[in-house]
Amino acid sequence: MRTRERDMAQIGFIGLGNMGGPMARNLLKAGHSLTGFDLAQAAKDTAKAAGAAVVDVANGVASGAEVIVTMLPAGAHVRQVYLGDDGLIAKAPKGTVLIDCSTIDVATAREVIAAAEAAGHHMVDAPVSGGVGGAEAGTLTFMVGGSDTAFAKARPFLEKMGKTIVHAGGAGNGQAAKICNNMILGISMIAVSEAFVLAEKLGLDHQKLFDISSTASGQCWSLTTYCPVPGPVPTSPANRDYKAGFTAAMMLKDLRLAQEAASKAGAATPLGAEAAALYGLYDLAGNGGVDFSGIIQMIRGKA
Ligand code: NAD
Repeated sequence: MRTRERDMAQIGFIGLGNMGGPMARNLLKAGHSLTGFDLAQAAKDTAKAAGAAVVDVANGVASGAEVIVTMLPAGAHVRQVYLGDDGLIAKAPKGTVLIDCSTIDVATAREVIAAAEAAGHHMVDAPVSGGVGGAEAGTLTFMVGGSDTAFAKARPFLEKMGKTIVHAGGAGNGQAAKICNNMILGISMIAVSEAFVLAEKLGLDHQKLFDISSTASGQCWSLTTYCPVPGPVPTSPANRDYKAGFTAAMMLKDLRLAQEAASKAGAATPLGAEAAALYGLYDLAGNGGVDFSGIIQMIRGKA
């Protein structure tokens, strides 16, 4: 094992955006050396100011790297930076620990990890939950897929960027866990929103419904932690005009990834499909930047 886990490591980092920027800063704060790349000059400038070295081409981060982290928008970007003659898998020193934290489709995650392992690297998919606040505070949850060896090698670095690190199984299972969880979340937020709108029409007070359902069989996270009406849960985005939080566009992305995976795997997910369609409408109406709990406005006919 080239990387001595307690020592300072040479880390490459690609994708220094809203999430990747603060995650890279936490690796620097932990004492690691970090070389970063992003297509956006502003992202590179911010990383440089935090103490990173920056390079002009993506595979420039591979030179001398012991660990490479990527935090990119979608599967196409991940394929682009890892695969091919100029990709990270070809350019990184054999045995490099590769950690893709992007939220992408399961099939791409599995394909890229297989290519990395065939080339003698150790790779995990490690999508996150916790948002920009969690990235900044170093309190992200990582859902990790990959071999036991790859997980053990990646873990010390994930611990510098997050608080909860869960090994979900083999390659791609981090992505599988993330989209299954967020499909529950998308569906349950719509269910809770429909219930509050029905309650309004029946003359049932928001707080009364909350008090009853939060201790009854309707109880769920969308109700008790992220209540889509103002009042019952003072920290929920409903109390600040649905300022995100977790945007509707991000929820839509994850619901579409879940539908893509369900279609490939032959799983019946009719409510997941309906949730994706409703968030698609909400996004089309110009609400992509609004918190995902704002969908209650559309259900009320007011978005
Ligand atoms: P972002 O758009 O802020 O950052 C992505 C960065 O990647 C940008 O700076 C972009 O310039 C860069 N980039 C794109 N293509 C590139 C390429 N080929 N080479 C190098 N750099 C490239 O997005 P983000 O909010 O940081 O999200 C990143 C990932 O994290 C996504 O997969 C997203 O789904 C996931 N995620 C985001 C959140 C959130 O709250 N923002 C929460 C959980 C998961």
